[in-house]
Amino acid sequence: MIIVMKAGAVKHDRDAVLKRIRELGYQPHVIHGATRDVIGAIGDERGKLVLHALEAMHGVESVVPILKPYKLASRELKRETTRIRLSDTVTIGGEEIIVMAGPCSVENESQILECATAVKAAGAQILRGGAFKPRTSPYSFQGMEEEGLKLLAKARDLTGLPVVTEVINPETADLVADYTDILQIGARNAQNFALLKKVGQLKRPVLLKRGMAMTIQEFLMSAEYILSEGNQQVILCERGIRTFETATRNTLDLSAIPVLKGLTHLPVIADPSHGTGNYHYVAPMAYAAVAAGADGVMIEVHPDPERASSDGPQSLKPSKFAAMMVKLREFAHAADRRL
Ligand code: PEP
Ligand code: MN
Repeated sequence: MIIVMKAGAVKHDRDAVLKRIRELGYQPHVIHGATRDVIGAIGDERGKLVLHALEAMHGVESVVPILKPYKLASRELKRETTRIRLSDTVTIGGEEIIVMAGPCSVENESQILECATAVKAAGAQILRGGAFKPRTSPYSFQGMEEEGLKLLAKARDLTGLPVVTEVINPETADLVADYTDILQIGARNAQNFALLKKVGQLKRPVLLKRGMAMTIQEFLMSAEYILSEGNQQVILCERGIRTFETATRNTLDLSAIPVLKGLTHLPVIADPSHGTGNYHYVAPMAYAAVAAGADGVMIEVHPDPERASSDGPQSLKPSKFAAMMVKLREFAHAADRRL
């Protein structure tokens, strides 16, 4: 940690800070500046955020950490990108761009089977579909729950596609894990620490979505919750954040992709469907995400978007999805990736 003293701090203030630093088990080093002193506190600062409390001491202007507060998620700890192997043919974080596609919600058998067959034919490697839906309104469709999980399992049996579906609370996490290949934590639960700890204890890869008001550092701290419980299989998903802009549902933070790729070894994907909220913008933002270095994309696809129970306006019809996949392949090749 670096402790920056105020310009007007007196020797008495500085000596009190030095004493406290030593009491906390650190070695202080004073750098005398023209107008103020700066003190370096040497020691393993991670997990000892108690040094932050020095900011309350007289004469202290700020306390600045040198190391990042996350450890297991950082590239400093692990240089190579984590690869998450789902089957003999599907690995997330490798050379191949992974496309997770399917409806926002599982609605009935024919809808999910039709969707699964169509996205597979177009080249998607993973089927998505919500069975437990964390809706903003309690009056909106809440999902088919276990019945929906059974239909997803049926779609997997039919197509061979691994499945990703959302888990919304610790109580139903074991049930969801029994049916799915990847557990999704939604934006609304991205700082539900009890849920993060629970999925950290399960033996299933976790797709962690960025909360709509989360900084990149907070996003990585949420990943750290899962990793620190022993589950190393975490995929990060940029899905748009809240800004002042109202022309799109959220603002897809494309710059978060290269930033995250630099900071963490975890695979990073983007969700342009929730990121934009409008099917017109989904394909261009998917191309942009791959160009920005994403390891994959998540796309909502519905056979009949006008009649969808949730997120119809941002869902692609299967024909539009297939057309997007053809072009996405070219962007993948331009980014030295496969699809
Ligand atoms: C979803 O994937 O259907 C979903 C609810 O996404 P988010 O949590 O990003 O809003
Ligand atoms: Mn949705």
